[in-house]
Amino acid sequence: MVYNFFCKLIIFILKILSLFLAFFLLLTILGWVSPYISNIHSYSLLQRLLTFESPINQTIKHYIPTKVAGYDLSRLLTIIVILFLSEQVQSLIGKVQFSIQKQYSDVKNFLHELVRTHPGTTRTVIVGPSDSGDMIEGVAIGQGAMHNLVVGTHHGNEYGSTEVAMAFAASMAENPIADQTIYVIPVLNISGYNAREREEKDANGYYRDPNRDYPGPCGTDGPYHLKSTAALAKFIDQENIIASATLHTFYPAVVYPWGISTYDVSTPYDDIFISLGKYATELSGYTVGNSSQVIYPADGCYEDYAFWKSGVWSMLFELGYSHSPSQSEIDEMIRTNVPGLRKMLEQAPREKAAKHEFTGMCDVRRLGRLDRRDE
Ligand SMILES: [Zn+2]
Repeated sequence: MVYNFFCKLIIFILKILSLFLAFFLLLTILGWVSPYISNIHSYSLLQRLLTFESPINQTIKHYIPTKVAGYDLSRLLTIIVILFLSEQVQSLIGKVQFSIQKQYSDVKNFLHELVRTHPGTTRTVIVGPSDSGDMIEGVAIGQGAMHNLVVGTHHGNEYGSTEVAMAFAASMAENPIADQTIYVIPVLNISGYNAREREEKDANGYYRDPNRDYPGPCGTDGPYHLKSTAALAKFIDQENIIASATLHTFYPAVVYPWGISTYDVSTPYDDIFISLGKYATELSGYTVGNSSQVIYPADGCYEDYAFWKSGVWSMLFELGYSHSPSQSEIDEMIRTNVPGLRKMLEQAPREKAAKHEFTGMCDVRRLGRLDRRDE
């Protein structure tokens, strides 16, 4: 709520700035054309406006050399700068507005509409209850025997991941993978998403990082302070998930286990993880690598948990270049990552990894401090 208020205040200030720039633009144009208006002296308002504009123009000329080949281009330059600034301000307003406009009810409406328009391929799935009081919803797409999973928005502020998950669901509903059923859960952290906060409120009102709340071989903040993480852990067992992608913002990278507090980051399957990462990033060109080497080590994350517990091929996507992408930046994230997600799941091994236990040494005291908790 604080975040929404803050955003609305910023939008208000930016709108005033935008009005001011529009006024300044008109003023500069008036200053430019005034010598060509013969009877300008008969308009006292225009005269008064010119007395504002003229000193500003003089100041600009004083500080910036604006004479080119005998022509004074100060007002032309001013107009170009104003137009550029207006464009930037408008784009900033768009970004901030986009970051607050959607709530979880909008995501649910999107999912229900998707199921209504694609009844042959798509059905609603309930993952389980959330501490927000809502049920966590997703969709199952396709009828295949192999079950795979895409989860967005462990972190509530990462709304770009929600948008990519929804676009992926829409694309899969149009054209499912023949032998797979893909579960898509656009939002795991509902209260965080509604407030655009990274963390999620537990039953007692404490803020918890959902992606530090799973059990792990080197520790965890949890386990399972949150109903959402417990529900997802149960869901991957119950549905026998083979491969999964979790969506976050931002790096840009696609990374794989081990991402825990250890120097022994290799699994027996680094080659497979790297090739899955390459399929995922064919269009995006994101970095592919080990989670703790590319990002930083962190304990209690879903990706390590799912692999460690049962050998799920789990990849983490750090999408894009910002936690507050604009619509056009989101369009680009969708354009490059939706085909990558599909290709990665198409190419995933048909069976879970057999050797999924962690056999290395933990070094939580040193490496635990590297967890920046911002991706
Ligand atoms: Zn994240």
